[in-house]
Amino acid sequence: MILKTRELPLNILVLEAIERRLENDHPKMPRIKELLAKYRKGHRGEHSIDYPLSILPEKEYLILHNIRLQFQKLHFQIDTLLICSRFILLLEVKNFGGTIFFDRKFNQLIQTYHGNVKSYTCPIIQVSNQERLLRQWCGQHNFNEIPIISLVVISDPSSMIKIDPADRTTFQKVIHSHYLPTKIEQQKTITNKTVYSLKEMKKLARTLIKHHKLNTTHILRLLDIDPSEIKTGVQCPICSYIPMVRNNALWHCDECLHRAKEAHMPALKDFFLIFNETITNKEAREFLHCSSPDTIKRILCSLHLPTSGKTKSRKYSLTPLIHPPPI
Ligand SMILES: [Zn+2]
Repeated sequence: MILKTRELPLNILVLEAIERRLENDHPKMPRIKELLAKYRKGHRGEHSIDYPLSILPEKEYLILHNIRLQFQKLHFQIDTLLICSRFILLLEVKNFGGTIFFDRKFNQLIQTYHGNVKSYTCPIIQVSNQERLLRQWCGQHNFNEIPIISLVVISDPSSMIKIDPADRTTFQKVIHSHYLPTKIEQQKTITNKTVYSLKEMKKLARTLIKHHKLNTTHILRLLDIDPSEIKTGVQCPICSYIPMVRNNALWHCDECLHRAKEAHMPALKDFFLIFNETITNKEAREFLHCSSPDTIKRILCSLHLPTSGKTKSRKYSLTPLIHPPPI
């Protein structure tokens, strides 16, 4: 049973928001397009496990995609998490083409693709770290100990996996996606003690979804783009012109003369993705190009967003616009 779907990853949404709010000839635009292509490819790779996972008996497994958690000061992201009564399984999906060699002596992954050789940090180490952090996170949230295991899933069926002949562990941790159902059923016979009831499994899934943390603001810093370079204002949904002008409870486009009632919604989402998960009345006035505090208050109140603080310092949480509240 899928409890948390795989929505478009946040880093893709953030880059798309930055892309539409920068001048087309901005020097960072090629880098943004390159990163977008890379993340979209990774996202397509993650879909490759959808079919193998759908073969599993639906009632026995709870599946959550793209969970980002915090343990103490550390954040960690899990591509796919399977909960069953006997164990928790973490899956890290990698979309590598060509030949991939797992060098466990130096913990690196070496890819040979169309004659080019590239080295990456070993995904086995990455997923083992996630395993460790999830174990500590579960302890912190008072869940009974349950075996937590992890696998690296290679999504491209044509890629060739190679290991050192003396390596006795990698083949247990790395698999092609089509082998996933068999591997999971095998694990059930190895870990044959029931630890969680269905009620406990659901409680863990709900707690994980509740603590799923979003983080967006680092991308602007990472790309070294000054916030002042981001175009503010409501974007016309027809011709993409920024900014539309607020008049008589409607947004007007000076370019194509289109009029729209709800055009502020994508702009507020962009504010969330680029700047902050909360917004004040003053920030919204500046970002939406609307000088009336009353109009902004009406717009923000109509969205029924969670708020904190009073009067002028009131902050509206924009998170529900991107991610609806958990089940
Ligand atoms: Zn327009």
